[in-house]
Amino acid sequence: MFEEYAKYIDVGTLNELSKLAEELKGVRVLHVNSTKMGGGVAEILHRMVPLMNELGIETRWEVIKGDIEFFKVTKKIHNLLHMPGRESLSHQDIITYMRHTYENVAAIDTDYYDVIFIHDPQPLGLIVKKREGQKWIWRCHIDVSTPDEETWKFLEMFVNGYDGGIFHIPEFVREGVRIPAFIIPPSIDPLHDKNIPLEEGFIRETLERFGIDPERPIVLQVSRFDRLKDPFGVIEAYRIVKRRYDCQLVLAGSFADDDPEGAQVYREVLEAKGGDEDIFVLNLPPDSHREINALQRSATVVVQKSIREGFGLVVSEAMWKGKPVVGSNIGGIRRQIINGVTGYLVSSIEGTAYRVKQLLANDKSREEMGRNAHLRVKHSFLITRHLKDYLLVIHRLLKNP
Ligand code: UDP
Repeated sequence: MFEEYAKYIDVGTLNELSKLAEELKGVRVLHVNSTKMGGGVAEILHRMVPLMNELGIETRWEVIKGDIEFFKVTKKIHNLLHMPGRESLSHQDIITYMRHTYENVAAIDTDYYDVIFIHDPQPLGLIVKKREGQKWIWRCHIDVSTPDEETWKFLEMFVNGYDGGIFHIPEFVREGVRIPAFIIPPSIDPLHDKNIPLEEGFIRETLERFGIDPERPIVLQVSRFDRLKDPFGVIEAYRIVKRRYDCQLVLAGSFADDDPEGAQVYREVLEAKGGDEDIFVLNLPPDSHREINALQRSATVVVQKSIREGFGLVVSEAMWKGKPVVGSNIGGIRRQIINGVTGYLVSSIEGTAYRVKQLLANDKSREEMGRNAHLRVKHSFLITRHLKDYLLVIHRLLKNP
């Protein structure tokens, strides 16, 4: 599999990767997160873990366990880290978090490994199990630049027990972080079913299966059903666009195992759709990679109107397929889209509608931006770059502590 990347990246980079991996032979690596299915973290780990093994670095992936109460608390933490809200973390929440943390400490064998990547806040507390000689890395996938301070303070004491933290962009490194911080944006895998080239026939069939008209323009957002992805704002923007241009809106999503709010948001999105037959709200099984791929390839314009976003893999996925993306001017989306070159950055519903209309009206600029978008991902957001960055961090922590 590894050699297949030569189609997409230069041989020099592949050789560098092999050489780095060679130097790390014998190192045992563990990744821990909170779900096998749903969301960008699982998406990346499904590809990253086999690749590291293929390069000769023994790597495993564990998922913490928790009941609905635990995941309600961790979802609350997730929301509060993204921005202060009406709620705050209660004593009971902290007790629930700690109880599950200790259950997972007992259940997951971390002692065997030399390097442990802990992804996001859900498994953060496992650090209490760190043994002499190990390197623990907190891999933060969310925008923690403007969190609820109390929530952050609770987590900060765990964070500072790590040997290093990895953040998507410099703005996410908070002042209270007293450990080495590495800046590594995520990536997509061109060899994943989600991103491989597809036959026209399959793309058409997929659209027909969902009742979408292949002959009329399609505006698409792919996201878990989550308020922070602002599906309601997307519907409003589409309604503004629709006054001028005939188009269809596809909101494709699913629920993540660790997100108890998904079903409720899905119901509300259906309500917001009302009787509009040009809005398609697709609740897809978590392994619908080729279907998502087909939807992204058939889209005329892709939007990502998130209110907060750590990175937004879906943006790079669409850009890789030559689509200009109209995305919120926030977090990791801002890092991916070059405004006016690969798509547009927007800050409101009206702005989203304006840019979508502009792209629908102009085939030439849409195609040109799409080409730029593909190149942007090729140069900056492929998994080979991401993997190399991880190996460099491991190297730095183990060999030059
Ligand atoms: N995704 C999917 N099915 C869905 C919705 C999303 O496979 O119904 C995938 C999407 O293609 C992307 C990942 O889940 O690879 C979402 O990652 P992103 O960083 O955009 O957002 P997150 O869900 O992690 O907040």
